[in-house]
Amino acid sequence: METDVLVVGAGPGGSAAAYHLARHGIDVTLLERSAFPREKVCGDGITPRGVVSLLKMGVDPSDPGFERVLGLRVYSRTAMVELPWPELRSWPDYGLVRTRHDFDAILAARAQKAGARLVERTEAVEPVITEGWVTGARIRSAEDHETPARSINARFVIAADGAASRFSKHAGVRRDDSRPLGIAARRYYRVGYHPGPWLESWLDLWEGDLQLPGYGWLFPLADGTINLGAGLLNTFKNFKDISAQRLFDAFASMLAPEWGFSEETAAGKTLSGPLPMGFNRTPQAVPGMLLIGDAAGAVNPFNGEGIAYAMETGEMAAEVLHEALIRDRPAIAATYPQLLKDRYENYFRLGRGFAKLIGRPAIMARATKHLVPRPKVMRFAMRMLANLTDGKDGDRQDRLIYLVERLAGAL
Ligand SMILES: Cc1cc2nc3c(=O)[nH]c(=O)nc-3n(C[C@H](O)[C@H](O)[C@H](O)COP(=O)(O)OP(=O)(O)OC[C@H]3O[C@@H](n4cnc5c(N)ncnc54)[C@H](O)[C@@H]3O)c2cc1C
Repeated sequence: METDVLVVGAGPGGSAAAYHLARHGIDVTLLERSAFPREKVCGDGITPRGVVSLLKMGVDPSDPGFERVLGLRVYSRTAMVELPWPELRSWPDYGLVRTRHDFDAILAARAQKAGARLVERTEAVEPVITEGWVTGARIRSAEDHETPARSINARFVIAADGAASRFSKHAGVRRDDSRPLGIAARRYYRVGYHPGPWLESWLDLWEGDLQLPGYGWLFPLADGTINLGAGLLNTFKNFKDISAQRLFDAFASMLAPEWGFSEETAAGKTLSGPLPMGFNRTPQAVPGMLLIGDAAGAVNPFNGEGIAYAMETGEMAAEVLHEALIRDRPAIAATYPQLLKDRYENYFRLGRGFAKLIGRPAIMARATKHLVPRPKVMRFAMRMLANLTDGKDGDRQDRLIYLVERLAGAL
């Protein structure tokens, strides 16, 4: 088999990359080890940042399967504040929620419709490396491991195989342990409680009198189901002692009993997964292969958002490879890590500092106690944490954020 670009993994990152390549008329093969629709452990929350990437793929956000959310409702133990998404030129003022079961299938179908060749139930075992250059992959049936692996040749490969990214390890990509990693668990519930058009977020989690390091979320789906979840960062002091499941259980038991979260109203099991943050994978490109999304460790360290960053990096990788292919200059692909750096490094650097800071329970406790009751401060914090600004051309808050990011980058 031959293809111009082989994309390994059809999550939001891989499908976005395949879509944008196919739209340019590039021959692209999108390889996925499962078959759609399939489950993916996630909070299912899409901020306005993610909405932009969706619109670029021609997805209709008014489809009734999407739940529209107008912002964040934040709880601490003693206060609650509602924070509408900011009104900006660069981003819409609404977010969405949809199960990844549906969402990923929609994106893969968009890529296919644009002309990408979607190959399901097939996994990439390892890259084929010829004289130091990734020239394809060894692939095999994901269902029948007895069938011998075969090779697929590609001029470029995109590793979009998610947080574990075993595929890229064979090409020397490794985890950078100095950068943060999150772990989170979620479960679906069918309850009477509906938070309205808000993503709810709990910043104070308690197990009796013991404050646990982490946060909880409650996201509404269009059919009335709730995605309930909790997560923590490995920068937290007691990270190794506290599992995502324990955190989840503590969070679920904090919720008002009349909301009805119980074993009886649960739909499916509690499932957990990692969130690789702040580019905790390195390098983000090797000759012939670019990494995107979770495979590149591209989750936002401020808020654990990964869908938008997977789709954005997918689009960026597609644009670079399109350029390299039409100009027949493979070296252009090597500019990709610098493009990532230009776009995200200052912000992610700040986010890595933030992750370290809130990893100290005393600081986290003081911050939630004093900041949550102050809506003005929280509105500013929300822009920063969700990376929703108009940058240096925006209002005073945006210009301040821009300045802080620049300063972080200069340190
Ligand atoms: C509990 C939890 C909650 C989260 N909540 C949110 C949230 O609310 N909002 C948000 O924005 N982000 C959230 N995230 C992060 C988000 O899920 C990820 O950042 C996002 O899925 C990354 O997309 P991706 O395309 O890079 O990888 P993935 O979505 O992981 O997709 C990778 C794909 O590659 C396939 N694959 C893997 N290996 C191979 C192989 N060898 N060959 C072929 N195919 C392969 C997999 O089957 C999968 O389909 C959450 C994560 C967790 C764990």
